[in-house]
Amino acid sequence: MSAQIIDGKQVSSEVRERVAGEVAGFIADGGHQPVLATVLVGDDPASHVYVANKLKACEAAGIGSVHHELPAETSERDLITLVRALGDDDGIDGILVQLPPPDHIDPDAVIAAINPAKDVDGLTATNAGLLAGGRPGLVPCTPAGVIELLDHAGTPLEGAEAVIVGRSNLVGRPLISLLLGRNATVTAAHSRTRDLAGVCRRADVLVAAVGVPELLGADHVKPGATVIDVGINRTDDGLKGDVDFEAAVEVAGAITPVPGGVGPMTIAMLMANTLTAARARSASRAAGQARDHAV
Ligand code: NDP
Repeated sequence: MSAQIIDGKQVSSEVRERVAGEVAGFIADGGHQPVLATVLVGDDPASHVYVANKLKACEAAGIGSVHHELPAETSERDLITLVRALGDDDGIDGILVQLPPPDHIDPDAVIAAINPAKDVDGLTATNAGLLAGGRPGLVPCTPAGVIELLDHAGTPLEGAEAVIVGRSNLVGRPLISLLLGRNATVTAAHSRTRDLAGVCRRADVLVAAVGVPELLGADHVKPGATVIDVGINRTDDGLKGDVDFEAAVEVAGAITPVPGGVGPMTIAMLMANTLTAARARSASRAAGQARDHAV
């Protein structure tokens, strides 16, 4: 029997509508309009498309945006100076530096310059540490989108065996913490894992975040499992996930397609994070004013 197809486009538009409603409510309650600053260095065409889509999503959600486009030869120091200035700018709630930067710029140095309160990609050591410690912070968008999809599919997480293939800072590691936070029993598999198929077949929830087209097939899927495919691989046959969809769909209980699964969720969660950052900054400003009043 074929699996339920988890429609990322539909879930993403539901999240975006929900955020737009919450932004309107936040403003109606006396909050400020959340503002996202995007920074793009160089002329990589894919990065330009990603940033344009993010700016469009801001507009639809009622979130303000400020875009900085810098030439490819911009120095690391100048980029860091801009990122720090945005961190200090009271009119900005979220900072998104489109990655990867040109080769002469160290992405880790740029990420380290982002004000953690405005780190809507959830990439700074501060937010990664908060997430690893099970404390509230800004969560990376793609892993947060994976959890939304699992919830939408009605997949029980508490007590479930979850296997994540991939342990990157961007996807795999944050997912370990998010799934642990939902009381799943989590296994992180990677390039040195022995018997990958056997490990994956234990999973009630299988997440592939590898970057190898169709690495996981029917042999890797426990019958009835929920399979979330984060992979986006450009091949001669078009866009492919890390899961062989045609094979896995016959075994899984629910599965995301590529494209149209996890991909659309990332921008939706970026909107949600920008609102979260705006609310937190507004609350901490109010707390500061109350303290000033008290003295
Ligand atoms: P990375 O290259 O940073 O990490 C890949 C991970 O996969 C590593 O942990 C690596 O193991 C593991 N791996 C590689 N080969 C194998 C193998 N043969 N068997 C088991 N594990 C393996 O990738 P990302 O996490 O950044 O991205 C993963 C995929 O997700 C990519 O296709 C990317 O395009 C996509 N992606 C999609 C997003 C979206 O939908 N919006 C956002 C981000 C990523 P080891 O650690 O041992 O090297």
